[in-house]
Amino acid sequence: MKAEIIAVGTELLLGQVVNTNATFLSEELAGLGIDVYYHSVVGDNAERLESLLELADQRSELIVLCGGLGPTEDDLTKQVTAAHVGQELVRDEVGYQNLLSFFEKRQRPMTENNLLQTLVFKEGISLQNSAGLAVGIFYTSIKGNHYLLLPGPPSELKPMFYHEVVPLLQKQFQKEEQLISRVLRFYGIGESQLVTDLADLIQGQTNPTIAPYAKPNEVTLRLTVKTTDETEAITQLDVLEAVIQERVGEFFYGYGEENSLANVVVDLLKEKQQTLTAAESLTAGAFQSALGDISGVSEVFLGGFVTYSAQTKANFLGIDRDFLEQVGTVSQACVEQMALHARKLAQTDYSVAFSGVAGPNELEGQPAGTVWIALASEQGVHSQKYHFSRDRSYIRHSAVMAGLDLLRR
Ligand code: ATP
Ligand code: MG
Repeated sequence: MKAEIIAVGTELLLGQVVNTNATFLSEELAGLGIDVYYHSVVGDNAERLESLLELADQRSELIVLCGGLGPTEDDLTKQVTAAHVGQELVRDEVGYQNLLSFFEKRQRPMTENNLLQTLVFKEGISLQNSAGLAVGIFYTSIKGNHYLLLPGPPSELKPMFYHEVVPLLQKQFQKEEQLISRVLRFYGIGESQLVTDLADLIQGQTNPTIAPYAKPNEVTLRLTVKTTDETEAITQLDVLEAVIQERVGEFFYGYGEENSLANVVVDLLKEKQQTLTAAESLTAGAFQSALGDISGVSEVFLGGFVTYSAQTKANFLGIDRDFLEQVGTVSQACVEQMALHARKLAQTDYSVAFSGVAGPNELEGQPAGTVWIALASEQGVHSQKYHFSRDRSYIRHSAVMAGLDLLRR
C-alpha cells in the first residue's frame, strides 16, 4: 500500500506552524505496515490543492489530507476533495448532534458556518471527532483510491486517528493479516543507548519489528507483529519483550502510546491510597501542572507550593530565613527542608521538592542545569543532585520527569 500525506494550511507554508501531523501520521502508518512515499504541504488554495490531488491520484493508493476541515472560509479541503472525486457533501447526523450540544452546553449561539464542519461525503465513512467539531472522512473512489480527511489541530487529529482510523485501516487493508503492536516506554536511558543495547534485535528484525522513538526525556519502543493468529502474535510479543526487559528493564516504566510517567505515578499512588504534595522552585508549578493533566488526580494530589524566591520559601513553607541564607537555595539542605515543610503543611504521605538553576545564567555560583530534588515520606527525606543540559525549558522538563521518577521508585 503506497500512501502520501498532504498537509493543507497557509500557516504551514509561512513557517508559523510546524508540520507535526505529517511526522505523526508517517510514524503511525509505518506501524500499520503502510508505506508513505510522499509528504506535501499546500496553502489554503483550491487550485493548488486540486492539482496536488491529481498528482496524488496517479502515484498513491492512500491519500491522507490534514487541515482545512474547519468552519472558516479558508477551510476548503472537504469542498475541493469532494469536487475532485465527484462526491456530494451531506450532513453527518452524529456530528450535527455533537455540534448542537456543544453550543447548547456553552449557551452560545451557533453561527451558520459551523454547519460546514459536519459535512461529509455522501458515500464516504464519517470519522467522529472526540476533541472538536469537524467530522473526518474516509472515502474509496471508483478507481479504488482511498482518501482520508483529518482535522488540522493535532489534539483532534491524534484521537481521531487512534479511535476511528486505525480500526478502519486494519479492516480495509489487512483482511487476513493484522498488525498487533505493543508500545514499551522507557525513562532514564537515551535513544542511542537503548538502540545500542538492542542492536542485534533491531537489525535482524522482520517480524516482529521494533521501532524506537525518542521523545523529550523518554524513549518508546513499538513492537509490531504481522499475523493471522492473534494468540500466537501475543506470545511472540511476550517472548520479544522478555528479552528486551532482561536487557533494559530497569528503565522501563509502562505500556501504551498515550501513557506517561505522570500517569504511572498517579496510578501507583491511587493503588496505595497515598497522597502527594510538591514545593517547586525552578519548575515553578510545572510538576504540579503535569499531575493536573491526569484525570482523577485529585484523589492523590492535594495541592502544593510554588516558592520561587527565598522570601516565599520562608513565608509559604516556614523555612528559617537565616538558614536559607546560610545554605543557599540551590542546595541539598534547602530542597530537603522544602520537601519536609511542604509535607507537614499539606499533611500528605509524600512530598517532592525542586530547587535548581533553570538557566541560561548561573545562580549562586552553580551552572545552569544543576538541580536538587528531594522526596519526603514517612521514612524521612532523601534527595538527589542532577546535572541537566540543553535550554531552560528542557532543563525544567527534565526536572519534572526526574521528580516523577523518584516517586515511582
Ligand atoms: P479548525 O477547525 O481549528 O479550523 P482545521 O481542520 O480547519 O481546524 P486548520 O485550520 O488547517 O485545521 O488548522 C488549525 C490549526 O491546527 C492550525 O492553526 C495549527 O495550529 C494546527 N495544524 C494544522 N495543520 C497542522 C499540521 N500539519 N501539523 C501541526 N499542526 C497543524
Ligand atoms: Mg481551519
